[in-house]
Amino acid sequence: MRNNSTDGDGHKSCMYKKIFAADATPISILVADDEELMRQSVKELLSLYNLNCTLVKDGQEALDILAEKTFDILLLDLLMPRVDGFQVMKEVKLKYPNTDIVVTSGEATFKNATLAMRHGVKDFLHKPYVPSELIKVINNLIEKREMKQKLDEMSRCIHASEKRYSFFVNNSPDIIYMLDHNGYFSFVNKRATELLGYKQEDFIGHHYSKFVHAEDIEQAHFAFSSSWSNVDIAQKVEFRMVPKFQEQELRCFESRSIAIKLDASEIPDRNSTEKLVGIYGVARDVTEQKRLDKAIYFQVYHDALTELPNRVLFQDRISFAMSQARRNNKKIAVMFLDMDRFKVVNDSLGHIAGDKLLQKISKRLQLCIRDSDTLARVGGDEFNLMLSDISSKEDVNNLVDKITQSLESPFIIENNEIYVTFSIGTAIYPEDGDNTETLIKHADMAMYSIKGKGKNGHEFFSQKINGLHGGDLSIENGIRKALQENEFEVYFQPQYDVKSEKISGVEALIRWNHPQKGLISPDDFIPLAEETGLINDIGEWMLDASCLILQNWIKSHSVLSNITLAVNISASQIGTDNFVNSVLGTLEKYNIQPEQLELEITENTLMQNMDIVVDKLKQLATHGILFAVDDFGMGYSSLSYLQALPLNNLKIDRSFISTIQVPGDKNSIITAMVAMAKEMGMNIVAEGVESKVQVDYVKAIGCPTVQGYWYGSPMPTDKMQVIALKQLANNQLRTA
Ligand code: C2E
Ligand code: CA
Ligand code: CA
Repeated sequence: MRNNSTDGDGHKSCMYKKIFAADATPISILVADDEELMRQSVKELLSLYNLNCTLVKDGQEALDILAEKTFDILLLDLLMPRVDGFQVMKEVKLKYPNTDIVVTSGEATFKNATLAMRHGVKDFLHKPYVPSELIKVINNLIEKREMKQKLDEMSRCIHASEKRYSFFVNNSPDIIYMLDHNGYFSFVNKRATELLGYKQEDFIGHHYSKFVHAEDIEQAHFAFSSSWSNVDIAQKVEFRMVPKFQEQELRCFESRSIAIKLDASEIPDRNSTEKLVGIYGVARDVTEQKRLDKAIYFQVYHDALTELPNRVLFQDRISFAMSQARRNNKKIAVMFLDMDRFKVVNDSLGHIAGDKLLQKISKRLQLCIRDSDTLARVGGDEFNLMLSDISSKEDVNNLVDKITQSLESPFIIENNEIYVTFSIGTAIYPEDGDNTETLIKHADMAMYSIKGKGKNGHEFFSQKINGLHGGDLSIENGIRKALQENEFEVYFQPQYDVKSEKISGVEALIRWNHPQKGLISPDDFIPLAEETGLINDIGEWMLDASCLILQNWIKSHSVLSNITLAVNISASQIGTDNFVNSVLGTLEKYNIQPEQLELEITENTLMQNMDIVVDKLKQLATHGILFAVDDFGMGYSSLSYLQALPLNNLKIDRSFISTIQVPGDKNSIITAMVAMAKEMGMNIVAEGVESKVQVDYVKAIGCPTVQGYWYGSPMPTDKMQVIALKQLANNQLRTA
């Protein structure tokens, strides 16, 4: 390590500041000279400056030691034995380019000097030289070496930073680009090729409009021209870019661009006022983000199961349609569609089947409407429909017909045939409401009104409906309360054997003793109970209550102890898991023979839920329980279709009997039904026999059993008992 402690001479250290610098790096010097004296004097001189050196006496030795050790400086004599200075130069230049050569020679000819310089020699000292000359040369060399080192370092840094820069630019997740004054690409990074399929050179020299989607070109023009006029503000714009290959998808970018400004010192032409040289921009690929946004938007405004608009979007559409209708003096229809008996499907086939059914239904409904109409799913089995721009109620009626027709064929779900009907209510804007909420509410009320009337139909909202249900849509809560507070009661209607004119059975019919409204008929609450599922509780209660009464009749040896008890069962009840066990359990609880119980199921229930009911009915039938088809003739079912079921009794709907008014009236359908039932070995009951003419008619065509007001209306238990006793007395009187 050199330092300036050995030399107190301030002058020297000032002159040769590189040699004497405190932070000077150690220098290795090789001296090759064949003159012993020369070598020693150099060594001594250098040691004065604390510079170490190695001495060799000819060219060969120099090359040998260079092969082993690195030297910074070589002081080289030219004329030496064996290998001379020129040869050494050649080899050093080739093999050790970092070793700086200074020739020290007495042969200072011009030729030697040029030759030496050509071999890259750094300096030439003519022997004999003044010691200070050598020191000065060494000092200069050290200075140059250090300078070169610094330059090397600098260029290494620049190179590294350039590499880093190009790495960042090319590996940027965003497209980085530059446009010239006219909008032509002057630079684009590699990301653009990855995302759009073009090569980098496909962009260079081409106008941006070639790559921007036609529909977004206006925005792009606007943003780039703004970049020129608002130089300090980055311009944000969204546009789609057209990929090179057709099979690639359009990609959406969010670009920020800013004009590239040069400050005065960077402007080559001093007189030029032009300071803006182009546009620098970063375009971020937001295709995925957009897709996600779209998906989220879809989720927020659509029903996941059917992909139909949901309540929120529906209300939005109504608001929009209303504002248009107001301007154009048009009407719109808001409809509430509620599927009948969906609960049965869900309970008996499971939720997955229920979901599939809803999907298929929404597809069919969609086929019935125009593009401008909106169909939405707003609840389990509830749909809303808006018809924008209708001219009259007739348009709505036509659509309802179309929907009804489209639902005529059954839906096939997991090999089950399911028939679907809807209860539909409609409110018209502006007469039935001038805001979204009211319109939907009124459509809902109209729908409830049709439900109350036995479902499967359509009704327009009217002020009458408003009065009926206005303050009280809570029949549902009323039913719950009625079950808890025992407001229901069993009435019985007798069935008579035509020949013997004796009571053969009774049908249990429910009544609601409402504390305020009095006796409510089942027609006013059964459809709603079915809709809400409360029918299951009601049905269970009815079966239990009527079996208890029958047990009492049996225990007290009443005249009614041998009759058949007919109980109405709804589809939803059959669908429940424990239906079979519940029926069997009740019979056991009251010790009633299964042959004494007849379950009445409407023809429609049987038809529409064939797959669900068949198993359960068969199970119960093996125990001896009887089954009657209620309201037969209303469902257009063929008897052969019903043959799969264990049916004992056919109840001809009272609408057929009501066609017989005066003596001589005939109804060929009734005759055919009686004949068919007989052929199939089934009993037959004529329902709704109200007059003597009807009694005579059914007797004449050979109908074995009758039920109707002529024989007795539904009545409370006590009265039923009294009637039975009277009849017994009459019969006994007659036989007596
Ligand atoms: P349904 O099963 O067809 O019952 C016969 C209905 O016809 C009864 O009406 C009865 O009062 C009425 N009726 C009987 N004879 C005559 C007649 O000569 N002329 C006329 N015009 N009508 C007659 P109700 O009791 O009002 O019951 C109506 C419907 O409510 C029943 O029709 C049945 O479908 C349902 N229902 C009644 N009780 C229950 C029940 O406990 N469970 C279920 N699921 N449904 C029930
Ligand atoms: Ca019945
Ligand atoms: Ca009936």
